[in-house]
Amino acid sequence: MGRIVMKFGGTSMAGTERIRRVARIVARQQAAGHEVAVVVSAMAGETDRLVNFCREANPLYDPAEYDVVVASGEQVTSGLLALTLQALGCKARSWLGWQLPIHTDDAYAKARIGEIETDAIAASMAAGEIAVIPGFQGVSDAGRVTTLGRGGSDTSAVAVAAALKADRCDIYTDVDGVYTTDPRIVAKAKKLKHVTYEEMLELASVGSKVLQTRSVSLAMKEGVRVQVLSSFIDDDATPADEIPGTMIVSDEELEGLDMEAQLITGIAADKNEAKVILTRVPDKPGTVAAIFSPLAGANINVDMIIQNVGRDKGETDVTFTVPAADLLRAQTLLEAQRDVIGFNRIITDAKVAKISVVGVGMRSHAGVASTMFKALADRGINIQAISTSEIKVSVLIDEDETELAVRVLHTAYGLDGE
Ligand code: ASP
Ligand code: MG
Repeated sequence: MGRIVMKFGGTSMAGTERIRRVARIVARQQAAGHEVAVVVSAMAGETDRLVNFCREANPLYDPAEYDVVVASGEQVTSGLLALTLQALGCKARSWLGWQLPIHTDDAYAKARIGEIETDAIAASMAAGEIAVIPGFQGVSDAGRVTTLGRGGSDTSAVAVAAALKADRCDIYTDVDGVYTTDPRIVAKAKKLKHVTYEEMLELASVGSKVLQTRSVSLAMKEGVRVQVLSSFIDDDATPADEIPGTMIVSDEELEGLDMEAQLITGIAADKNEAKVILTRVPDKPGTVAAIFSPLAGANINVDMIIQNVGRDKGETDVTFTVPAADLLRAQTLLEAQRDVIGFNRIITDAKVAKISVVGVGMRSHAGVASTMFKALADRGINIQAISTSEIKVSVLIDEDETELAVRVLHTAYGLDGE
């Protein structure tokens, strides 16, 4: 029989009743004959609450002490789940990050996982004990508690699955899988049976927040088989081993699986981008470097970039996008460089949305972008910027047209279900 890592998110762990449901799902997985390790999040809202306490205590908080505070949410849920499993008659114990240990670097509040020691936990699991591990936390070489950054429990789960060489890492959440697009926008969105690591990375980075992006990169690097599925299920629901959720797989595995590969796998919308236009910058070597170096130096991620063809007076406009949260900082940095760059005006617009169509199928097909442009044009939606990668085409549009654009594209690529 196999070895399974199961991860439960904050909404699944929010309160005694929900933890009892989680315990039943875990017990059933063990009863199916597997060795089981469980990684848990703090109760929904708890980490936010703890972060606020830190801010109130000291706005310039020391990240190492912040980690001591915010790691506690997962300590509580891991102990409670072990207790609940014991109440069901299962053997179970918790393993805190420092006990396992899960070694991390010392970048407190955003630590990265190094090695995870598994001898003790593997022996305990082999003896029929369920291992319950708090997500999000680890321990630095100095022996201090660390946390991995918000949403980090997904990464904990994948890292534990890789270290234990688990057969599967099941991520239980409040949705039952990954959809072709947000079902709240498009009622006809379909659940995907499979999605590749790369597609998942693109979808996650453009706003589909099912998994922390870092956990997907780690799963891809370590070849961990990940399933996304719902914890809000009845006792007679399809067992996890029959893959009721969405499997995240490699390209090669997908090719072996999918008879009728889709051209487009999913459509995502991201409203957290803002547009910046610099007008009348000199059309000469070095200008673009002068614009983007200070932004890079401040760790501001520039995404889409357009430079217009130069006008007659040797001037041009440069348009690009930055995360909306960084817009003010970007503007300030650019103003400070006004003389060096030599632009006339800065025009900014945070009321934009980036719509992306994603699919490994587009590698071997032409016409994906033109289908997108035509479908949007037919509905009078104006495209302000475009960017592409091998498996993604993104356009920037007016934020008010987000939902319409997603619906129109969902239909245009034939993704609508019944
Ligand atoms: N509790 C942490 C957070 O809210 C980690 C997680 O749930 O993934 O960010
Ligand atoms: Mg999460």
